[in-house]
Amino acid sequence: MLIESPVAPGGPIADPVAPLAAAWQLQKEHAAFLKRQQPAFRIRRITDVRASLERHRDAVKEALHADFRKSPESVDETEILPVVLEAAHTVRNLRRWMKPRRVRTPLYLAGTTAFVRPEPRGTALIMAPWNYPVNLTLGPLVSAVAAGCPAIVKPSEFTPATSAVIRKVVEDALPPEEAFVVEGGAEVARELLALPFDHFYFTGSAHVGRIVMRAAADHLASVTLELGGKSPTIVDESASLPHAARVIAFSKFANCGQTCLAPDHVYVHERVYDRFVAELRVQIEKIFGADARSRMESPGFGSLIHDRHADRMRALVREAVSAGATVHSGDPDASSGRSADAVVLGDLPAGARVMEEEIFGPVLPLVRFRALDEVARDINLRPKPLALYVFSSRAGSVEHLCHATSAGATVVNDALIHFLNFDLPFGGVGGSGLGKGKGEAGFRAFSNDRAVLRQHLRPGVLNLLYPPFSAWTRRIIEWLLRLY
Ligand code: NAD
Repeated sequence: MLIESPVAPGGPIADPVAPLAAAWQLQKEHAAFLKRQQPAFRIRRITDVRASLERHRDAVKEALHADFRKSPESVDETEILPVVLEAAHTVRNLRRWMKPRRVRTPLYLAGTTAFVRPEPRGTALIMAPWNYPVNLTLGPLVSAVAAGCPAIVKPSEFTPATSAVIRKVVEDALPPEEAFVVEGGAEVARELLALPFDHFYFTGSAHVGRIVMRAAADHLASVTLELGGKSPTIVDESASLPHAARVIAFSKFANCGQTCLAPDHVYVHERVYDRFVAELRVQIEKIFGADARSRMESPGFGSLIHDRHADRMRALVREAVSAGATVHSGDPDASSGRSADAVVLGDLPAGARVMEEEIFGPVLPLVRFRALDEVARDINLRPKPLALYVFSSRAGSVEHLCHATSAGATVVNDALIHFLNFDLPFGGVGGSGLGKGKGEAGFRAFSNDRAVLRQHLRPGVLNLLYPPFSAWTRRIIEWLLRLY
C-alpha cells in the first residue's frame, strides 16, 4: 500500500497533522504483519537499507558538504561506514537475537519451562540531531527494522539537504508502511510527539529529551534518550603524552567539536601539564594545520552548523578570556561567520560558562589536578557523562576512577571508538541519557522482552498453596522460607 507523501519536497509541510497521523495509522495497521515475519525478512530489509545508502553515497557527500562543509572522507568515516558496519553486524547476529532465550526454573516452579521471547514494541518514532545526521537516523532505523518495528524518522531541520537525501535513501529501500521520513523542525516534531507511538527513540539535547519524555509519558510509551553532556577526559602523569594529545586533538576538534562523544574538557596532572600542552599544540597542527586559517579550511575540521551556534562559541571564549583564562593554543579572533579556530584554554576562573555548559564546539578547556579524588569529586558534581576517557598506564588509577564515578561508557587510552564496537551497549546514564542503543542493545531497545512460562504438570506444584489453607500449606511455606 502506498500513501501520498505528507511532506512537500525539501520544505515544511502544509498541513502537518492529518498526513502525519495517516502515516502513523498506516504503520500501526502494518505492525502486526511485521511482527509475524521471520529473521530472513528483516535481514533482507536491512540489506536493502545498506544497499540504498551505498547507492546514494555521492549524494550524501554532496548534501553534507552543502549543509555544513563536511569533507567526503569525514562523511565516509563518520556517516556511511558506521551505518554499514552496524547493518553488517545486525545481519550477522539477528537470528540469534530473535531466538527465545530459555531461562532457569526454580525448584518451587518444577514442572514448568520459561523463555524470554523478544517481540517488537510496535510503532516507533526516531528523532535525530544535525551533527551526524545520516548515522543518527539510519543507525537507529537498522535497530528498529531488526526488532520488527515500523518507524517514522525525523532528521534535523538544520541539515535540510541531507534530510532530503535520507528521505530518498529510505524511500528507495523500504515501503512507507515500514519506514517513513518526515522533514521539518520543532513544530513538526511536536505534531509527531502527539501521536501514540509505542517507542520514542530520541538523539539530541537534554532540553528536548525532557520534552520527548513528557510526550512519551502521555502515551505511556517507552523511550530511549541518547543525550549529550560534558564528557570529561583525564590525563594522569603515567600517560603516554604524545598519544593522549593526538587522540584528544582529533576526537575533540573533528567535525568542529560537534560530536556528542567528544572530550568536553581535560583534567591534566599538574606534573605533566606543560608537556601535555606542548604536545597538544604539535598534534593540533599536525592533524588540522599550522595556523588558524589552514585549520579552519582543513577538510577534517569542518565548520559550525549555524550562526547562532558560532556566536555562542565566540561568546564562551570571550567570556572565559576576559575573566582571566589563558589561551594555550589557537586564535579566538580568527573566528568569522560559521568558521572558528581550535582553541585550547587553561587557568579557567571559577564558574566559567565553558565549564558549566556542554561546549559542542572547537573549544577545549584544560584543568590541572593533583589527586584523582579531586577529579572524581568534580565529575560527580555534574550530570553523569556520556563518556569518560582516561589516559593512564596504571590499571589501579583506571579502576579507581571507574569505582568513584559513573558514566555511559569509559574508554582507556583512546576516545570515541567504543561507538564502533557493536557488542557494547551505547548510551548515557542520568543526564546523558536513558536506555542503550547500537547492535544487540539497539535491537532490545525496540523490543519487548515478553516472558513466556509453560506449565507441564496438571496441577502445578504451587497448587499446594491454594486455599483452603491447611497444616500442609504452612509447612510448605516454612520450608521454602528456610530453603531460600
Ligand atoms: P536538539 O535536541 O535541538 O534537536 C534534536 C531533534 O529534536 C531535532 O530533530 C529537532 O528538530 C527536534 N526538536 C528541537 N526542538 C524541539 C522541540 N521544542 N520540540 C520537539 N522537538 C524538537 O539537538 P541538536 O542541537 O540537533 O543536537 C545537539 C545535541 O545532541 C547535543 O546536546 C549533543 O550532545 C546531542 N547528541 C547526542 C548524541 C548521542 O548519541 N548521545 C549524538 C549526537 C548528538
